[in-house]
Amino acid sequence: MSKQRIDVKNCPLEELEIWMTKLGEPRYRARQLFQAIYSQGKTDFFSISTFPKALRQRLSEIAVISHFTPKETITAQDGTVKFLFSLNDKKCIESVLIPHDGYFTLCISTQVGCAQGCRFCLTGKMGFKRHLSTAEIVNQVVYAKRHLPQPWPLRNIVLMGMGEPLHNYENTLKAIKILLHPLGLNFSHRRVTISTVGLVPQMLKMAQAVNVSWAISLHAPDDETRNLIVPANKRYPLKEILNALKKMPLPPRKRFTIEYVLLKDINSSLDQAKKLAQILRGIPVKINLIPFNPHPETNFLPPAPEEILAFQQTLQKAGYTVTIRQSKGADTGAACGQLDGK
Ligand code: SAH
Ligand code: SF4
Repeated sequence: MSKQRIDVKNCPLEELEIWMTKLGEPRYRARQLFQAIYSQGKTDFFSISTFPKALRQRLSEIAVISHFTPKETITAQDGTVKFLFSLNDKKCIESVLIPHDGYFTLCISTQVGCAQGCRFCLTGKMGFKRHLSTAEIVNQVVYAKRHLPQPWPLRNIVLMGMGEPLHNYENTLKAIKILLHPLGLNFSHRRVTISTVGLVPQMLKMAQAVNVSWAISLHAPDDETRNLIVPANKRYPLKEILNALKKMPLPPRKRFTIEYVLLKDINSSLDQAKKLAQILRGIPVKINLIPFNPHPETNFLPPAPEEILAFQQTLQKAGYTVTIRQSKGADTGAACGQLDGK
C-alpha cells in the first residue's frame, strides 16, 4: 500500500491545488499544506494544525511528506560541510554546504551519477544511475536549511552537485518552482543557479519557464579542444551554445557565468584565453575559472598558479570580470568534480 502513496514534496503548488480539488477539498488547503511543509518544516499530516482532523487522517492514508536524514555529515577544515544522503533504493547522493562571510551556499545534486561523461569529472566516471525525483532535489535544501552550523542564512542554491540538471528536466523544473515560490522555500531568482554542460534545447526551454541564474560549463574556446573533454559538445557545439545565450532572456544588470575548468596543457594557454575572449564578445558574461581538482581516476592536472593568473589577466585585459574559484572542502572530497556518493 505505502508504495502507492504520493509524496507531496514532488509537487509544486499548482499541482497540489489540482490534487486537493480532485480530492473534493477547497483549493486553499493546498496553500496551507505547502506552507506547513516548507515554512514550518512539517513531516507528518497529523501535526498540521490548520487542517480538520478528518483531512489529516485522510491525507496520511494516501500521501506522505518525505524528508531526508543524512547517513553521514563530514566537515572539512575550511568549514565546508558535506552531507551524504542514502535514498530509498540505497543509492547515495551528496550536497555540499559552503560557508561565506555571513551566509551559506548549498550545492545540490540532480542525478545519481551523470550521463555526460566529461573526461575530467569524477561524477562523469560513475556513469548515469538515475534521475532524482523532485522531492529528492528539494529535500537536500530543506535538510540543510534546518541544520546550518552557524546562525547565518542559506542564501544561494547552486545546481552544481552530481548530475546534469537539464538532463533531468521535468523534476528539476518542479524543484526550482518550489525553491522560488514565496510560500515554498522563497529563494530569490538571482540566488538559484543552474549549471549546465550546455544542453541547448533544454536551456532555451528552461529559460522560458523560470527566471533563474545560469552558469555554463564551457571549458574550451574551440570545438576541437572541447570535443576532447566534453563529449556533449558533439551534440551541441560551442556556436550553438553561444547562440542560445544570445536568445535567453536576462534581467537588467544580470550576466551569465561562464565556468571554465583549467586543465594543464589542454585548455589553459594564453592563445586559448585570447580565443575565449573573442568568442564571448557581445554576450553579457562573467567568467569563473576553476583550477582542476585532481582525483585518482584521471591523469589531468591543474596548471601552475602563475599560468592560472596569466590566463585570468589575459581575459581581464580584454575587459571581462574574471574570478578564480577557490574550491572548498577538497580534504573531504567535497570540491567540484569530487562527488561520487562515497
Ligand atoms: N553537470 C553540470 C553541473 C555539475 S558539474 C555541469 O557540468 O555544469 C559542476 C561544475 O564542476 C562544472 O563546471 C564542472 O565542469 C566542474 N567540475 C567537474 N569536475 C571537476 C574537477 N575535477 N575539478 C574542477 N571542476 C570540476
Ligand atoms: Fe556531468 Fe557536469 Fe560532470 Fe560533465 S561536469 S560529467 S555534465 S556532472
